[in-house]
Amino acid sequence: MKTIVILGSTGSIGTNTLDIVERFPDKFRVAGLTAHSNDEKLEDQIRLFKPSVVALSDTTAAARLRRRCAGLSVEILAGEEGLMQVASMPEAELVISAIVGGAGLLPTLAAIRSRKHIALANKEPMVMAGKLMQDEARRYGVRIFPVDSEHSAIFQSLEGHRLEDVRRLILTASGGALWTIGREELPDVTPERALQHPNWKMGTKITIDSATLMNKGLEVVEARWLFDIPESQIEVMIHRESIIHSLVEYQDRSMIAQLGLPDMRTPISYAMQYPERLSMDLPSLDLTEIGQLTFCKPDHDRFPCLGLGYESLRIGGTMPATLNAANEVAVEAFLNGGIRFTNIAEIIRSTMDDHNPKDVETLEDALEADRWAREKAESLVVALAR
Ligand code: NAD
Ligand code: MG
Repeated sequence: MKTIVILGSTGSIGTNTLDIVERFPDKFRVAGLTAHSNDEKLEDQIRLFKPSVVALSDTTAAARLRRRCAGLSVEILAGEEGLMQVASMPEAELVISAIVGGAGLLPTLAAIRSRKHIALANKEPMVMAGKLMQDEARRYGVRIFPVDSEHSAIFQSLEGHRLEDVRRLILTASGGALWTIGREELPDVTPERALQHPNWKMGTKITIDSATLMNKGLEVVEARWLFDIPESQIEVMIHRESIIHSLVEYQDRSMIAQLGLPDMRTPISYAMQYPERLSMDLPSLDLTEIGQLTFCKPDHDRFPCLGLGYESLRIGGTMPATLNAANEVAVEAFLNGGIRFTNIAEIIRSTMDDHNPKDVETLEDALEADRWAREKAESLVVALAR
């Protein structure tokens, strides 16, 4: 029996994780849950999974939840402090990190520093402070298991092989909702249109990141730190069908890949129960039914965000944290109708151009760059909205 905590339990990854817990009640026990402000959904989860402690980062929502759960034996905490407390609760062995954005950095680090193994979906903290997170994981003797489907595929394709024999990591990308849209139409794309992802049903932020290809830019940075491989050995290939989840090429030119239907429960379950594979009652991949798989190169002209991801890694230091923060601000502004789709890349570009990068030696270095970049990007949003 493994005792787990889920950070971001009301989201897409969080609910998929709880679906796995429901299927294997003899393997997992939920000790703690956290969310941002969805007290209704968290109440349902409390009644079903009976955690001993939960936290909402929104204090008003936490007060509402306390009233809803008056008769239940659950401790309800609030704010960032509350999230950190749940992340580091003594009985938990594994923390599923599934908050969206940089908001997950402090709780995930708190979990690492309390010696919890991590199943990591929340990629943004790895972009902000990947080296620091890996150093801390080593220091506290914990493992970070990838949940992101591409990184899970690479993790699986590396099993039983020597890292020094790796020639390249090849991340696949679906191309997102706008891959077939012409360059001249991109400025007028609405949020509704950009949210129509062909293969995956995910939270809104990552779905927009998929449409700009920034998701792949963030994943290149994530792969660099998860697998300790320089960015020059990480490549990206468009694969519209999302069947091959990623590949590793070895020095003898052998390639090992992991395949499956696009369903996050497969990589989540692998991260939760590694090295055991849970018998998941899901449809099998039938390649004869799919018939063919297609591949092509990314289009940097229409989708400059992928290149910005690489560039941030080449510059290094606080630049990836800057890229991430500017992206978070720009995506939110786009979703709120404040800016155009193509403004997202422009805002990130300008924020990066204005940034004076320094090394990330402490957590504060990453947080300071994050704050600076948010302020800068907000001012660019305001200027564009005028
Ligand atoms: P989501 O928007 O569906 O859920 C986000 C969760 O985080 C919710 O529980 C929400 O309450 C919580 N949250 C949001 N803002 C918060 C804040 N400021 N403070 C505390 N909690 C907050 O997102 P998602 O699609 O589940 O994605 C979660 C993470 O996993 C992201 O980093 C995403 O890139 C990554 N990921 C998701 C998928 C997927 O299939 N959804 C696949 C790969 C990676
Ligand atoms: Mg992914």
